[in-house]
Amino acid sequence: MQIVHYPHPSLRWKSQPIQSISGSLRRVVREMFELMYEAKGIGLAANQVALPFRFFIINVSGDPDLSDQEHVFINPEISNQSGLVEGEEGCLSVPQLYGQVKRFETITVEAYDLDGQGFAMDLDELPARVVQHETDHLDGVMFFDRMTDTDLQALQPQVDEFVTVFRHDQSTGTTASDAELTEQLKNLERDGLGG
Ligand code: ZN
Repeated sequence: MQIVHYPHPSLRWKSQPIQSISGSLRRVVREMFELMYEAKGIGLAANQVALPFRFFIINVSGDPDLSDQEHVFINPEISNQSGLVEGEEGCLSVPQLYGQVKRFETITVEAYDLDGQGFAMDLDELPARVVQHETDHLDGVMFFDRMTDTDLQALQPQVDEFVTVFRHDQSTGTTASDAELTEQLKNLERDGLGG
């Protein structure tokens, strides 16, 4: 498992709900936390490790020692959005690229945890931003899709550079073709994560 970079097709995938909590899901989640910490991130969605399923993880402290701040959100739904606040975002799928994004200031998120228990959280500030960013991933939305046209124009050369690198890696065979990657995603969707 690895964190995939834009424009990997999974980053434009509308992911499927998780049907059941399996041992495989637990192992995947643990591995995702390791990858997230290695990359100095505070959130990671399944799409970012090329898994077309609706879950993500966060630890807004970014500190593996603060495991009490680790949260897993399975099949998340956001409601009660209110207020708008602009803030800087980055993404482990486009490292070193940062931009200003408007997000709801406060939200409620409902989801299931790894024990299959439903929970709800009222969030604001950074946790609210991270949860909105990660939920977007599950719908194939990147943070720069939500930037203003002017801000995006300024960032476009860096976005294009990610595309150039990805296409280059495909041309040399380091990365599979879009057709093959799409096939893998469809197979995962059909077969699930396993038991
Ligand atoms: Zn991201």
